Amino acid sequence: MRIAVTGTSGRIGATVAEQLLARGHQVTGLDLVEPREPLAGVDHIVGDLGELPRSDPRLAGVSAVAHLGALMSWDDADAERLFAANVTATMSLLRALEGSAVRRFVLASSGEVYPENAPAYQPLDERHPRQPTTWYGATKVLAEDLVEFAGRKFGWSTVCLRFSHTQHPAEILDPDSFFSGPRFFASRRLLRERANGNAPVVAQLAPYEDDDSVLLAARREDGEPVRMGILAASDLARGVVLALEAGTSGHEVIGLGPDESTDLGRFARELAAAAGLGVVEVTLPVTAPSYVTSNARAREVLGFRPEIDRARFVELAVQARRSAGRGLRSGAR
Ligand code: NAD
Repeated sequence: MRIAVTGTSGRIGATVAEQLLARGHQVTGLDLVEPREPLAGVDHIVGDLGELPRSDPRLAGVSAVAHLGALMSWDDADAERLFAANVTATMSLLRALEGSAVRRFVLASSGEVYPENAPAYQPLDERHPRQPTTWYGATKVLAEDLVEFAGRKFGWSTVCLRFSHTQHPAEILDPDSFFSGPRFFASRRLLRERANGNAPVVAQLAPYEDDDSVLLAARREDGEPVRMGILAASDLARGVVLALEAGTSGHEVIGLGPDESTDLGRFARELAAAAGLGVVEVTLPVTAPSYVTSNARAREVLGFRPEIDRARFVELAVQARRSAGRGLRSGAR
């Protein structure tokens, strides 16, 4: 198939494109920016999805689409930018595909369509009402509805994949990583909590200012572990490929997540032990996430089987840290 992948210069899109090429598909990549490392065999269209012309002739021969291009932000000031990138741009992409050879459209949605930090029941699954608590989650709800509508209007089969949080293992022990820095490193979390004015957490982390060798083992003040689904980017990308190649008809909604949700405190201790880093126990408010998700539907409908469990994540994260030249901490506590 010739498959269009949007967001090909991003963390997940590049991995999806790579896996599609390996399976013999042809790939047209669309992104705002050029890829950092161009993939041989991908035709890149660089530009804003929101500015694609209707019935774009460059997309006429495409038979399936993985729409991953989006903005992720939890800054209230970004609400309008989120709408433009995740809703208006999705609309424009759908219009650009009118009259094309497309028969199947897969959308990267998110677990943030649910109230993940206060779900009505757990494990969270596709039957849970969509009640986002962030502008980002709200834009994913709107994008899902546009895709479902376009599927009915144009006679495509459509799949909304609700992704769990996703990381490349190499990002986990990188203090500069957008997600993992503040999630796992005491010094980086201190900066974020200070910016949010969270005085009790700032007081616990103050001794670790500028010390990138101490990981944060978080637990909640009500005793619950801080817990969420974390999937490896390679596993998630395989789920996207399965959804593109599957023979489902009509509209499907499928949660794509790990077999087991991760207790972040336990994970941090395992990472610290394997990497020779320090670890500090920190108590977070009850608003910190503590949820488990189900991937039963992905297993059943797509045959999805994640390969990278928590132990393998630790091994790969430590290997990546060593090859990036980040050393062990002396006198790890
Ligand atoms: P990313 O930020 O690394 O990549 C997104 C890409 O989309 C970027 O390369 C960006 O340039 C491109 N893009 C944004 N707006 C665009 C526009 N208007 N036109 C063209 N390109 C545009 O994100 P990612 O982690 O690779 O995530 C991919 C998808 O998965 C997104 O839809 C995201 O919402 C979804 N998702 C990600 C996670 C996660 O944990 N990473 C979790 C749930 C859902």
